[in-house]
Amino acid sequence: MAEADTKSILVVGSGMSGMTAAIEAAEAGYNVYLIEKNPYLGGRVAQLYHYFPKLCSPNCGLEINFRRIKSNPRIHAYTLAEVESVSGTEGNFSVKVKVSPRYVNEKCTACGTCAESCETEIENKFNYGMDKTKAAYLPYNMAFPMRYVIDPSFAQTAEAQKVKDSCKYDAIDLNMQEKSIDLQVASVVWATGWQPYDASKLDSYDFNNQPDVISNVMMERLAAVNGPTKGKIVKPSDGEAPQSVAFVQCAGSRDENHLPYCSGICCLASLKQATYVREQYPDAKIYFFYIDIRATDQLEDFYNKAKAETNIEFVKGKVAKIQKGPDGKPLMRVEDTTKESLRELTADLVVLATGMQPNLAITPAPADIKYDEYGFIAQNGTPAGMYAAGCASSPGNVTEVVSDGTGIALKAVQSVVRRAN
Ligand SMILES: Cc1cc2nc3c(=O)[nH]c(=O)nc-3n(C[C@H](O)[C@H](O)[C@H](O)COP(=O)(O)OP(=O)(O)OC[C@H]3O[C@@H](n4cnc5c(N)ncnc54)[C@H](O)[C@@H]3O)c2cc1C
Repeated sequence: MAEADTKSILVVGSGMSGMTAAIEAAEAGYNVYLIEKNPYLGGRVAQLYHYFPKLCSPNCGLEINFRRIKSNPRIHAYTLAEVESVSGTEGNFSVKVKVSPRYVNEKCTACGTCAESCETEIENKFNYGMDKTKAAYLPYNMAFPMRYVIDPSFAQTAEAQKVKDSCKYDAIDLNMQEKSIDLQVASVVWATGWQPYDASKLDSYDFNNQPDVISNVMMERLAAVNGPTKGKIVKPSDGEAPQSVAFVQCAGSRDENHLPYCSGICCLASLKQATYVREQYPDAKIYFFYIDIRATDQLEDFYNKAKAETNIEFVKGKVAKIQKGPDGKPLMRVEDTTKESLRELTADLVVLATGMQPNLAITPAPADIKYDEYGFIAQNGTPAGMYAAGCASSPGNVTEVVSDGTGIALKAVQSVVRRAN
């Protein structure tokens, strides 16, 4: 039995673009299913420390969206959920959704007793593996839904039973099973977003062997108060304060062997992260290696402010190699194109600005969708009644993907209306 009638809209992915599409369509009076594979809503923005242009905590923006979702009975959100199949045509799609068990039910008060009584630790994916979390965990302190998760690798162990017994609200259900849900919808929005390009593929940057070479998304977590170091930017190798930090732009981007395109966001993200460093270390030396700086519109201000700083050195040149220097620090080799010289510089901490790769380039959607050569959903690449929003179709910042999500909500609604007429 399908869960709803054909007046509904399915939104796959609950990042800024997907949440926006879902909320706008629901607030216009349409029934929406919001499917998210993570155990929480919000997408990658939840993992940022601050976000430009205002440099406020992303929790402000996320919280407003969560409130709108919570208060709207037309939005049915599923976490730990993925679309298995889609068939049919505009106005009448049949969708099968797989929902994995959380092993924690709605009685959870997020009191944290389960985590306290749990000794087993697992990799903390929210912090990009920079620390560990308990196998009974809350994905992050502002997570929505505010409900713990039991890791599937742990759920069937004897210790899990002990953790279950510690919960006085009877919120842990270790017998929870995977569920399959059938939906009938008029339109589908793919808002599946991006993932950071895998820095370990950049052989010449030695990312796997040097703990003090990190990626830009890791830097967001290092600076975040709810991150692995409680917001202190330190060298992962020894926990000490860095005296110098290098930002390496286009790490794998605009490179035929990796991501041939520019994500358009990395220069600004690194400039933003330079402000994180400066806040904590007023005297630290900052290097900024770049091919050219992509900072347009109002965001150019960011660049101009950084340029005015004396202790930031902008080096125009693509870093060719990063290796361990004689003093054990990361050593960068670069051709400084303005000075026409080869330079070797070391820094205590190196941040690789890796680009945004569409999630669908790794795991394509189970639907008849065409992709461009980079794995983004191609323009006009979706069949009638299906739409792409946000970074599923092209890299973008939050302002851009929110306006995209708003526009796509209208398209999705039009599919419903066409069906009704
Ligand atoms: C280092 C860095 C810093 C940044 N800083 C800023 C900033 O300061 N300001 C700014 O405006 N922008 C910033 N951005 C960009 C910002 O992160 C993006 O604009 C934003 O994440 C895009 O939202 P989205 O909804 O398109 O994708 P995402 O945030 O990736 O959300 C997609 C969601 O879809 C889910 N999903 C994926 N596949 C499936 C599936 N098959 N089934 C179900 N769910 C699925 C994912 O789990 C995720 O929750 C930064 C980017 C980087 C790389």
